[in-house]
Amino acid sequence: MDHTIYCKCGEYLGLTTEEICERCKLKTKIKQLEDERRMYIEEKALFKQQVEQLELECKDYRKAADFAVKENKQLEADKERLDLLENLPREFSGKIILRMSTTGRGFRLHESSQKGAVDTVREAIDNYKKSMN
Ligand SMILES: [Zn+2]
Repeated sequence: MDHTIYCKCGEYLGLTTEEICERCKLKTKIKQLEDERRMYIEEKALFKQQVEQLELECKDYRKAADFAVKENKQLEADKERLDLLENLPREFSGKIILRMSTTGRGFRLHESSQKGAVDTVREAIDNYKKSMN
C-alpha cells in the first residue's frame, strides 16, 4: 500500500494515509478563513454602498414627493382664490369679462353687459388668454 510518508513541507508523517501534516492543514484552514474574511469585508463595503445609494434615491423621492405636496397645496389655494372670485355676489349683469382698460387704467376683471362677457371668471380669463395669441 502506497502512502505519503512526508508532507510537502517536509514534516515526517509516519504510518498514515494523511497527505499533509496538521500544521499545513491549519495553514490551509487559516488561509480559507482569511479569504472568507476578505470576502465578507468586500461584501460589507458593497452592501454599505448599496444602502447609501438607496438612501440617496429615497432622498430624491422624498424631495419629489414634498414638491408634489407643495405644488398640490398651491393648486388648491389657487382654486380657492378662483372659486372666491367665481362666487362673489353678482349685482350687475352676472356676466364677467377680463380686458385691458381702453383709457390706460390697466386690466379690468369685472361684471359687464358688454359683448364678450361670459358666465364664469375662469372662462373670462381663458378668453383673455386666447385673445393674447
Ligand atoms: Zn506540512
